[in-house]
Amino acid sequence: MKRFQKYIKVPCLLVHDTESAALAEIWHDTTISNAIYLALNRNFGGTLILNGKVHSTQEPRSSVIEHMCLDPNGPLCYCGKRGCIEVFCSADHLVDKAGMDISAFFKGVKENEKDCLLIWNEYLDYLALAIDNIRSVVNCDFIIGGYLVQFMTDNDFFSLLNELLKKRNSLSIFSFKTRPSRFKDKSPKLGAAMLFIDEFFLNLSNIAQSMILWIFSYLLGLYFVIVKPTTH
Ligand SMILES: [Zn+2]
Repeated sequence: MKRFQKYIKVPCLLVHDTESAALAEIWHDTTISNAIYLALNRNFGGTLILNGKVHSTQEPRSSVIEHMCLDPNGPLCYCGKRGCIEVFCSADHLVDKAGMDISAFFKGVKENEKDCLLIWNEYLDYLALAIDNIRSVVNCDFIIGGYLVQFMTDNDFFSLLNELLKKRNSLSIFSFKTRPSRFKDKSPKLGAAMLFIDEFFLNLSNIAQSMILWIFSYLLGLYFVIVKPTTH
């Protein structure tokens, strides 16, 4: 990061895009306590929100939900494993499978073209499997964001996805909800900006605290130098 910062005249920060996207969602809705944010981008992404905060570690090795295995004999993922969520649920996978760009693919879905519907239903089935696996670890709401969300309506996405999730709910503990992200594919940029805004207000708060301390010390000094001697 230091090497990169040398060439940029404004402060730089390296942050996982799904983490910054989740930050934007928390900023928008302060009632979010525990949730999973899933990003349906060219590469799939996901991050965990716990107690209203993004679960993060010093090294970017947690919240790599995209590499959870759905099928050990599935296609090879760029991480080296087989059958990760990434190879079934990324936007790149849809493009490869459909052999057309995303806009044309969703046009086909909306016009009930058989091939597009088959690919779309398979995609949603894998996404439901992924959500069901994650929900087995953390039973909380799911926020669905990323590039693909702009093409989805409630009918062709959330209602179908919820139907598939209910079928997988073998223990009848379907107590979580799925909902679209507030800022769709713009969440990562907004969340990254929020990190700098938070830092600005934190610095402002520190400056205000320093000023209050300085004024208090000054008044205390005045009391001992001027007021106290006159009381004798
Ligand atoms: Zn992988």
